[in-house]
Amino acid sequence: MLEIRPICENCAKRLPNESSEAMICSFECTFCAECVTNILDNVCPNCGGGFALRPSRPTKDFTKYNVGNFPVTIKEVYKPVNMEKFKRLYESNAGLNPRER
Ligand SMILES: [Zn+2]
Ligand SMILES: [Zn+2]
Repeated sequence: MLEIRPICENCAKRLPNESSEAMICSFECTFCAECVTNILDNVCPNCGGGFALRPSRPTKDFTKYNVGNFPVTIKEVYKPVNMEKFKRLYESNAGLNPRER
């Protein structure tokens, strides 16, 4: 189950459950679409993987699987990208299809 983290790890932009700008990697490292596109170029600075749009947890109670019963986390992960450290990971992954990294 996803934590649905509340902010962009790099710029701290709010990314609530209903956000259409939240992107995650397979480990749920969470960034806003702008950072993924303009700064990270679809390379996760933690694992080197690609990103996909994060789904939203349903708010309606048509089933028990909604945000009321399965709340999103309030724990903020704020770890601005160290561009010096990111460079090597970026160079070895940016040219590869995320599915083939
Ligand atoms: Zn951001
Ligand atoms: Zn990652």
